[in-house]
Amino acid sequence: MDFDLSEDQRLLQDSLAKLLKDKYGFEQRKAYLKSETGWSREVWAAFADLGLLGMPFAEDDGGLGYGAVETMIVMEQMGRALTLEPFVSTVVLGGGFLRHGATPEQRSALVPMIAEGKLLMAFAHTEQQSRFDLHDVATTAKKDGDGWVIEGRKGVVVHGDTADQLVVTARISGGRRDRDGIGVFLVPADATGVTRRGFRTSDGQRAADITFDAVKVDAAAELQGGLALVERVADEAIAALGAEAIGCMEAAKDLTIDYLKTRKQFGRPIGSFQSLQHRAAEMMVCLEQARSMAMLAAMMASERNDDERRRNMRAVKIEIGRNARFVGQQTIQMHGGIAMTMEYAGGHYLKRLTVIENMFGDMDHHLAALSEEGGVFVAA
Ligand SMILES: Cc1cc2nc3c(=O)[nH]c(=O)nc-3n(C[C@H](O)[C@H](O)[C@H](O)COP(=O)(O)OP(=O)(O)OC[C@H]3O[C@@H](n4cnc5c(N)ncnc54)[C@H](O)[C@@H]3O)c2cc1C
Repeated sequence: MDFDLSEDQRLLQDSLAKLLKDKYGFEQRKAYLKSETGWSREVWAAFADLGLLGMPFAEDDGGLGYGAVETMIVMEQMGRALTLEPFVSTVVLGGGFLRHGATPEQRSALVPMIAEGKLLMAFAHTEQQSRFDLHDVATTAKKDGDGWVIEGRKGVVVHGDTADQLVVTARISGGRRDRDGIGVFLVPADATGVTRRGFRTSDGQRAADITFDAVKVDAAAELQGGLALVERVADEAIAALGAEAIGCMEAAKDLTIDYLKTRKQFGRPIGSFQSLQHRAAEMMVCLEQARSMAMLAAMMASERNDDERRRNMRAVKIEIGRNARFVGQQTIQMHGGIAMTMEYAGGHYLKRLTVIENMFGDMDHHLAALSEEGGVFVAA
């Protein structure tokens, strides 16, 4: 198997790395964090100029026709820089729903706007009672003439406070935890009856709690695919977030090794002590194990067999989560007191890794599900 990047892929990686080096220093990031949106519209426009926002869409729809490997390359760089922009919300999640569930008319209306950086999206799915179960949906959508009326509440909608369009799951039929009967709808964030309350998550990113109070949408707002669509797009997001975690881990490891070489105790660099060298070596092993799983995730993202894709993504979540936790925690330990301050990047990597570990299911959730499903390799 050839793991080398193609010429185009290397170009993509280098151009983004350069852009982030110029625009995403730690101090610049702090200013973006403090701004009203919690991220930078200027950087978003630069992403659009670089072609990142149209990346996964078919060329016929106004995109570049790239796949999961290119998303992995981009997300790894974004992880290194701890970017705050709504790339996963708009391009990976919003884009995934459009690619797999939209009609050509819906795509031609929305994809060019995303690619130009003029349309932001967010996935409004999680509810108070649902935890990580994608099929647990209490929000309802009732038929109303040709259209629908949506009623319910969604929580921790990442980048929900700045999104223009929301992808909302709602129950069309059946009981709260039935796998059948889940509808997926495009809802303009400024529709009558939509109320948003924005807040910061523990890693400093933005999210919102959103209430839908008799929100009317027309028939053209519905996407096709139900729960299978949601699961597929969630798996693509798991692959993207896995790659972001690799970028975070790599940067945290580099920072730590630099520190071990610089910080002096007992008249020599603390990195000369074997106990810390062992820990640093363990961090590198964890990073490489996680990287293998991120590559598996990129390869599995387009797997057509839903069960096989799901089982592999659960393994990806478990392994990346376990290794990321170790690398993040060792970063803190080996930096001693300074890792605990907001002025230093180390702690921010652990925070982001912790949030990634919890997005789309934590390790316990996927471990329990995988053991119920018979493990990664199920006998034919
Ligand atoms: C605001 C603040 C609040 C804190 N609150 C708490 C608290 O509530 N509870 C708590 O437990 N800690 C707390 N700490 C952390 C604690 O006070 C120290 O920062 C921590 O013990 C690391 O020591 P150091 O900063 O001197 O690290 P350094 O001396 O820089 O050492 C870096 C790392 O190398 C290790 N190390 C150094 N020399 C050797 C060696 N020869 N062999 C092996 N390892 C070595 C150290 O253990 C450390 O992990 C707090 C720190 C801050 C700044």
